[in-house]
Amino acid sequence: MKLNIQNTFTKELAADPIKENTRRQVEDAAFSYVTPRIPSAPKILHTSEEMLQELGISKEESQGDFFKNIFTGAEVHPNTTPYSMCYAGHQFGNWAGQLGDGRAINLMEVVHNNKRWALQLKGAGETPYSRTADGMAVLRSSIREHLCSEAMYHLGVPTTRSLSLALTGDEVMRDILYNGNPALEKSAVVCRVAPSFIRFGNFQIFMARKDTKNLKALVDYTIKYFYPHIKGNDKNAYIQFYKEVLDNTLDMIIHWQRVGFVHGVMNTDNMSILGLTIDYGPYGWLEGYDPDWTPNTTDAAGKRYRFGNQPSIALWNLVQLGNALYPLIEEMEPMEEILNSFNQGFAKKYHFMMLDKLGIATHKEGDSKLILALQKNLRAIETDMTIFFRNLANIKKEDNESDAIEKIKEAFYTSSDFDSEVKENWHAWFKNYLIRLKSENATNEERAKKMNSVNPKYVLRNYMAQLAIDDADKGDYKLIDELYQLLKKPYDEQTENEKWFAKRPDWARNKVGCSMLSCSS
Ligand code: AMP
Ligand code: MG
Repeated sequence: MKLNIQNTFTKELAADPIKENTRRQVEDAAFSYVTPRIPSAPKILHTSEEMLQELGISKEESQGDFFKNIFTGAEVHPNTTPYSMCYAGHQFGNWAGQLGDGRAINLMEVVHNNKRWALQLKGAGETPYSRTADGMAVLRSSIREHLCSEAMYHLGVPTTRSLSLALTGDEVMRDILYNGNPALEKSAVVCRVAPSFIRFGNFQIFMARKDTKNLKALVDYTIKYFYPHIKGNDKNAYIQFYKEVLDNTLDMIIHWQRVGFVHGVMNTDNMSILGLTIDYGPYGWLEGYDPDWTPNTTDAAGKRYRFGNQPSIALWNLVQLGNALYPLIEEMEPMEEILNSFNQGFAKKYHFMMLDKLGIATHKEGDSKLILALQKNLRAIETDMTIFFRNLANIKKEDNESDAIEKIKEAFYTSSDFDSEVKENWHAWFKNYLIRLKSENATNEERAKKMNSVNPKYVLRNYMAQLAIDDADKGDYKLIDELYQLLKKPYDEQTENEKWFAKRPDWARNKVGCSMLSCSS
């Protein structure tokens, strides 16, 4: 296995002089050197074929001991110096001070086919940033991260990736719902991959410590490698940088709303400076369309990170990033202007994204009303978001309202809510929708094809991941690969896999791991 290793982060940014994994406050540094923990019996459970290719690693190499050792922490690759990054953040709206990579260790940076990748182990033991925790990750959350990262990539959502999923052979104690029921669980390591893992929090920590020198070094570094078209290292460059981070973040959120993804923990330390979905913890997928839903039981009281709140939280987080960058810009006006562009930009992009989902290619007055009325209807009766939008493509211009309802009613979770008022509203909506479709030029087939490229047929429903987890706990890893293969082509019909194009089964409605997830991982 020959990797083209070109470490820049450790070369260009300030290092913590202490080379130990012991927990501490790390000042005047962007990262600390660490040594991954040696697992007692490492075993690779799954690898992503696409990610292997991206890195130039062959299938045979991925089955060898060297691969296994490097990507579980058993061995450090020659000429590399693993490190954990120092960052801070706002958690659930409150300033939390230094957080950092408490259980993430960057192994190396690799350049392949002109693409730069950082490779990072998650769950490879204590670092200076582990605070009160153990630096380990459990199998269930690692399966969820591995499968979802790759599924999101294939859905076309900007995301960090996952190269491999492995068992360490060791066990860790976790209290899943934080309710006094700790139990031993298998621990696992995922090798995450992204151009960079830099977060909003990496900038926030320097601002909080009034360390403008390191703040500038980190911004210059980020621009140089990840926003290279931005020239110069002056105020104007930083203003442009802020604007582009905002745009990338906004695009990511639009994608989340399009596919029904709820991140669950949008703390500023979980916001990528590249606008990638990062830190898959208690995330979930909307089944019944409910903007107030969050899978995260840790957030059950305030539901700060519920589906419908993700756009405003993104903006809130961008305000915090603005505060962090302010010492380099020292001018409110351009920054406020950028922040103000968010709501307008979101409204516009969201509108067109929804029209795409509806198969409407032209713009007409009244479209906003159509979208609003749909959202109201979707909430009035529990309606499966994925099935509804996918089946919508089966509707033909020539259909009447009853035909149309017939084609989507499989998406309703119950028939009991379908009382006369709800029914009337759906009829009214389809009447308008069908009129609207008739004014479109595209044929039924053309429209269906386009709709099916933005409305996925298969997503990683919460219960699907849980089934793979239950099997894996018993030592059966087949379902991990089955789901991974399925989710590589989320927009394809895959008629042989239709058992996964189904509503959430009843047993999963209120089950831990399916609709209830905590930050415990
Ligand atoms: P998260 O909610 O997963 O984004 O984590 C918030 C912070 O807690 C980050 O600094 C993590 O690195 C840290 N953290 C989470 N789980 C662990 C763990 N098991 N061991 C050490 N640090 C952790
Ligand atoms: Mg995190």
